[in-house]
Amino acid sequence: MPELPEVEWVVRSLNRTLPGKTVRDVTVLRPRPLRPTAPDLLRTTLTGATTQPVERRGKFMIFRFTQPGTKKGQGPLVCAHLGMTGRMDVVPNDAPIPKHLVVSLDLGRERFDFVDPRGFGRFSLDATPLDRLGPEPLSDAFTPPVLAEAMKGSKQAIKVSLLDQSRLAGVGNIYASESLFLAGIHPKRPAGGLREPELVRLHAAIQTILNEAIASGSHETADPSNPLFYYGEDGASGSNSGAQRFRVYDHAGEPCPRCGKPIERLVQAARSTFFCAGCQPLRPAAAKRR
Ligand SMILES: [Zn+2]
Repeated sequence: MPELPEVEWVVRSLNRTLPGKTVRDVTVLRPRPLRPTAPDLLRTTLTGATTQPVERRGKFMIFRFTQPGTKKGQGPLVCAHLGMTGRMDVVPNDAPIPKHLVVSLDLGRERFDFVDPRGFGRFSLDATPLDRLGPEPLSDAFTPPVLAEAMKGSKQAIKVSLLDQSRLAGVGNIYASESLFLAGIHPKRPAGGLREPELVRLHAAIQTILNEAIASGSHETADPSNPLFYYGEDGASGSNSGAQRFRVYDHAGEPCPRCGKPIERLVQAARSTFFCAGCQPLRPAAAKRR
């Protein structure tokens, strides 16, 4: 499932080709990801509009458009999400229609396709999900006190709280495990009980992990002849995909890269968590200085 870095790759890839194109027509093959927007409304709203650079907010993508006569920033916007396995791409207009196509924008010589095999994605004029998002972890405004405020009062395990997009936007299952490992914090610690030095470490770890992941995808996006993105087990290819670029995620039973103890797996809120009991003690008083 794409998290912040994977969405960032897609945004950067789209922004090489998408901005400045006029939408000639809109074809909707699956209406569900448009909800609550009706397909006809999407079509009449976007036809004739010009595409602006795509923005990312957490795991959401914001497609902005200008209509003739509207100023930048005042046109319609589409609030989109890749869901579990969604893909977005600009292809030649005569390219074959892919399976599981949700919506396609006719851009003249090119075409924007949103393909969503599992159907959990989103491409809607309704932007209200953005209002519920917590702070943006790679923004200048995200500081250790902002992280502390986001976790304040939470009795949930920190791993579970990190996945709550209303507390912090963009971090998902993989990078939550990775960040907690880098910060040396046990995933079961109550989120609201972290001490200040731990919050400082976790804040730095989240930014490091997300920036590393974005950088690891950059070579893949650098090839304009291969603009399609695949992630997850099905399409794993290249050195940046699959488990080898993770420190603990999906490495249960293998030696911890820091201390050599076997990495453990536990299930929290029906999701797998990977951690090292040696480097991430449950009782912080027993923690060794890192
Ligand atoms: Zn360890």
